[in-house]
Amino acid sequence: MAGDTPGAGSGSIARPHPVTGRPFVSPVPPGSGWPDDPASADTPVALDAADVRRLAGRASLAELEAEMSVCRACPGLVTWREDVAHAKRAAYAQEPYWGRPIHGWGSSTPSVVIIGLAPAAHGGNRTGRIFTGDRSGDWLFASLHRVGLASQATSVHAGDGQQLIDARMVAAVRCAPPQNKPTTEERDTCAPWLEAELRWVLPSVKAVVALGSFGWDAALRTFAALEYSVPRPRPKFGHGSTATLTAPSGDSEIVLLGSYHPSQQNTFTGRLTEPMLDDVLGRAAALGLGQRHTIWLSERPNRMTLRGRVRPLYPNR
Ligand code: SF4
Repeated sequence: MAGDTPGAGSGSIARPHPVTGRPFVSPVPPGSGWPDDPASADTPVALDAADVRRLAGRASLAELEAEMSVCRACPGLVTWREDVAHAKRAAYAQEPYWGRPIHGWGSSTPSVVIIGLAPAAHGGNRTGRIFTGDRSGDWLFASLHRVGLASQATSVHAGDGQQLIDARMVAAVRCAPPQNKPTTEERDTCAPWLEAELRWVLPSVKAVVALGSFGWDAALRTFAALEYSVPRPRPKFGHGSTATLTAPSGDSEIVLLGSYHPSQQNTFTGRLTEPMLDDVLGRAAALGLGQRHTIWLSERPNRMTLRGRVRPLYPNR
C-alpha cells in the first residue's frame, strides 16, 4: 500500500463499530450486523465478469445492493480492499474496516443521482458508505446539506443518522482501487452493477451530477448502454457542463451536470470552491425537487436564493 502508514490493527481482531460499539472483524462478514449492510451470509457472490452480468441482470434493487456488496469479480481489487482493511491506517487502527464493495446509497426513488469514481481506501472502504469518512466526503456532504439534499452536514460512518433527501449516490467502480485508479478492465467488469442500479431508479430521476471526468464519462457510457439518446459529439466534461439525455421512449429527459471532483487536489488548490460545488448541486436539486426545493430554500433565506437560476451561496468567498 504505497503512501499509507500501516496501522497497528489486525483485521482478524474484532474492533468496535464507532457508532454502535458492536465488534467486527475486517473485512466485515455479510449479514453480521453492520449498519445498512444489505447482504446476508446467503447472498450470491459474483466471482467474475460473467457472474456480475448475470446477477445484475436479474436482481431487484434490494438484491442488487446486496449482491454488489459482496462481489469478488476483480481479483486485484478484492486483494487491495481487503489488505487495506487488514492493515488499516494508524489513525483508524482501533476501528473495523468494511473492506467490501460499496453499494448505492440513498433513496430508491431519487430525483437526483450523484455519480463518483470509487470509494477511498480509508473512506468508504472503512466506513461502508460511499463518500463517507474522508475529506472529499466532508466537502460533498456539507454542500449537499446546504442545497437541501442531505439531512446533516456531515457523513462520518454508516449508522450516523445521515440521510440523503430525494437523492442517491453511486460509484462507477464499487471497490477502492490503488491510487484511486481502476484499470479499464475493472471499470468494465463493474459497469453492469451501475447500469442495473440506474435502470431501477431512473424513472424518478431528473438530474445526474457527475463528479470528475471519470464520473462524467461513466455516466455517458452508462446512459448510452441504457439506450438513452446521448448528444453527439459527446459533450466534454467541465465544471458546470451540462448535457440533456433523452429516454429511449423519447418522453422524458435527464440533465447531466458535471462538477469538479471534491478531491483535496481540487479543494486545496482552489480549483473547486464551496460556491462552485453548491452551484452545481443546487442546480441539480432545483431540477430534481422543483417546487419543493424552492419552498425548502425559502424557509432558509441565509443559505441560498433562487432567482431564475441557482445563485452561489457565498459570493464573497
Ligand atoms: S470493482 Fe465492481 S466488479 Fe470488481 S470486485 Fe468490486 S464490485 Fe465487483
